[in-house]
Amino acid sequence: MTTSFDVVIVGAGLSGINAAYRLQERCPDKTYAILEARDSMGGTWDLFRYPGVRSDSDIFTFGFGFKPWTGDKTLADGAEILDYLREAASENGIDQHIRYGTKVLSADWSSPHQKWHLTIEADGRTSSIDARFLYLCCGYYRYDAGYTPDFADLGSFEGTFVHPQFWPEDLEYADKNVVIIGSGATAVTMLPAMARTARHVTMLQRSATWITPVPFRDKTAERLQSILPAKLAHSILRLRYATLRTVFYSYCRRNPEGARKLLLELVTKMLDGHEDLVAEHFTPTYNPWEQRLCAAPGADFFKAIRSGDASVVSDRIDHFEPDGIRLVSGGKLEADVVISATGLQLLPAGGIEVSVDGRKIELNQTFLWRGAMVSGVPNLAICIGYTNSSWTLRSDIAAKLVCRLLRYMDRKNLASVTASAPNGMPRSPLFNLKSGYFQRAGDQFPAQGPRGSWRLYQNYFLDRMATRRGGFDRELQGQNVR
Ligand SMILES: Cc1cc2nc3c(=O)[nH]c(=O)nc-3n(C[C@H](O)[C@H](O)[C@H](O)COP(=O)(O)OP(=O)(O)OC[C@H]3O[C@@H](n4cnc5c(N)ncnc54)[C@H](O)[C@@H]3O)c2cc1C
Repeated sequence: MTTSFDVVIVGAGLSGINAAYRLQERCPDKTYAILEARDSMGGTWDLFRYPGVRSDSDIFTFGFGFKPWTGDKTLADGAEILDYLREAASENGIDQHIRYGTKVLSADWSSPHQKWHLTIEADGRTSSIDARFLYLCCGYYRYDAGYTPDFADLGSFEGTFVHPQFWPEDLEYADKNVVIIGSGATAVTMLPAMARTARHVTMLQRSATWITPVPFRDKTAERLQSILPAKLAHSILRLRYATLRTVFYSYCRRNPEGARKLLLELVTKMLDGHEDLVAEHFTPTYNPWEQRLCAAPGADFFKAIRSGDASVVSDRIDHFEPDGIRLVSGGKLEADVVISATGLQLLPAGGIEVSVDGRKIELNQTFLWRGAMVSGVPNLAICIGYTNSSWTLRSDIAAKLVCRLLRYMDRKNLASVTASAPNGMPRSPLFNLKSGYFQRAGDQFPAQGPRGSWRLYQNYFLDRMATRRGGFDRELQGQNVR
């Protein structure tokens, strides 16, 4: 087996597959491998199997730029996304480059050899692989554990307790009382899906979340797809959704009062006949898009509430009891099944220990240059997608940047490039959302700076322009090939 490559991509999720496609397209002479810890590709979309799992970004921007999405549903199911990723990988021969069951433990850059030395674990054994350039597409959270708060007396609960990251295939919940703890995208997705068969589903939230209805099908997409070639229709729809998202996000940030009013009016309309619930359960204390906005396709979430099959309780957990949850208010929620939709545990760079000539790099002391290159470390890029828009949009910008860098290095006969952050540059978090998991661990990630190539605009169009700019000669330190 080959153990030395021009480029090693770590992770065969959406970002790794996208990066491989761009590499094949723009740097066809480069040898590469994708190292994947799991036994299958798809990352997030292979791991999460809870009822109703789907994207909450529109699928046209969440899908790849290079592979038309031909369905007309606005948001796609997890299984559809997984099929699409697998298809993209096999159509382009990317699957041939994936080494499954291969976990990267550490990566050490050798200055004398001008290459990465990766320590990997496969089949219970450790071995090594070398690479000229390392591109980490490892996502942003731990695969082996989700986040579950310390619930008092959880051990006394006699029902089934589940974290959505580890959904038991055989979990029976028909005609059972289900309580979903949490109010993020996972809870909002799961509630209508489970309410179809459960006796009753209660979403137990500490505080309200912004939830907005989105059309289940996109009639414009249907029309465009029927009259235009698939690629052209996809490009138009992608541009349309990227623009809509950017405009709406900017509007929420610039006019939070206006955005609050607009969303509250929508929620009130959706809860037709149950408007009394709006103030108590659907009026968040934070402004729209300070946390990720949850989507309800076809208003499914609100329909489930209106039908009486599901309800929302705003309270705190005091402790668990054998048959349910005792609330701080004194009330009780009886439950056969409790789902802790309480989030992820963030993890930068897939937990890989990065070092340069044996000196450990603390990733949380670094910055990202143009949203991808790790400051002070040669030939290392990390893929972090958007959190306020489709992850894929930013992931593609970063993949194209990596290809530009590789071509630049070839033109200049460079073995490596390093982006050095200016001394004393102020640090800002990479993720600018106030969601619990970013608050808990966002500071473990590289930071962004205040301006220029060190700033992430969280705006697809600005970021795309900024990443395309020249200035490599000025901004990067190169080491010539010897
Ligand atoms: C339930 C859920 C729903 C989401 N919905 C959306 C959405 O609608 N829109 C959106 O924009 N984003 C969404 N996200 C964020 C989502 O994670 C990204 O959109 C996208 O799937 C990330 O792709 P990725 O390839 O970067 O990372 P991942 O999908 O996390 O894939 C990373 C891959 O890297 C592998 N890996 C990690 N560490 C190592 C290592 N050390 N060695 C080898 N392999 C390693 C993992 O096994 C995995 O296969 C969602 C996230 C979750 C959890």
